[in-house]
Amino acid sequence: MKESYMLEAFNLQGKVALVTGGSRGLGKAAAIALLQSNAEVIITGRNKQTLEETVKELCAYSTKIKSYVCDVTDSNQISQLKDYLINNNGKLDILVNNAGIVIDKHYIKTSDEEIDRIINTNLTGLMKLTREIGTIMISQKNGKIINIGSYDGLIGTPGLVAYGTSKGGVIQFTRMLATEWARYKVNVNVICPGYFKTSMNEEVFDNNSEIADKIIKRIPLRRIGDPREIGPLIVYLGSEASDYMTGQVLTIDGGEAVS
Ligand code: NDP
Repeated sequence: MKESYMLEAFNLQGKVALVTGGSRGLGKAAAIALLQSNAEVIITGRNKQTLEETVKELCAYSTKIKSYVCDVTDSNQISQLKDYLINNNGKLDILVNNAGIVIDKHYIKTSDEEIDRIINTNLTGLMKLTREIGTIMISQKNGKIINIGSYDGLIGTPGLVAYGTSKGGVIQFTRMLATEWARYKVNVNVICPGYFKTSMNEEVFDNNSEIADKIIKRIPLRRIGDPREIGPLIVYLGSEASDYMTGQVLTIDGGEAVS
């Protein structure tokens, strides 16, 4: 008799997924991949209008898309999001912690406010949201948490000291939480993207600048990533196919981190 090799796990029918920062860029690409795999998806962000526009656009893929306004730096909004999920869905299977910002500046010129903003959004906000929303997964004794870190959390890059430090924190948070929450069957992994063209860096890549040229020359695959290339990894880590994987750092960067 032939055994199943779990490929049917990529059909996420019946699963509920939350993607923070899902209104554009990598979060939107993650949401589309999850919708195409039949999951029900809630995207969040700070801007209601952008979220509503994205929901309209994503309805072309599946009508199982909704949005909810939640600033990850606001604990009250995180609590309200938790209540919304409990009241509307009653469960959460997949959490994609994607919301993030970048500040590209020489460290000496980075203000206190900028350091606070980047750490509060990329690291503290992600940690608090995971603690609150993660209790839904703990009580159901099942869940997949996918953090979005960065290649800059693994290597050194001038100009990205505060950003890279926040992402290094996300990577270690992933490892620590994975060991603690394994007993609840909640898997925690982190994807570390290299350069992907999104609103975060379009200025650099749209103008064919010298900086863009330099970046592309140091990437072994000699190109930046297409946000759609994040999708299959999200679906894999969100599915039962990755049940035996936790605490892992998956880098998707055209080979940049190993060169
Ligand atoms: P974008 O700027 O295109 O999108 C960021 C998303 O996060 C938006 O939906 C934005 O919505 C949301 N967001 C920002 N701040 C907050 C907040 N305080 N609360 C809730 N939502 C927020 O960025 P990318 O798609 O490029 O980046 C997505 C993730 O991927 C980030 O964590 C980033 O660090 C990471 N990454 C990106 C890389 C790249 O090359 N693009 C490389 C490596 C990592 P709104 O503004 O409406 O709140």
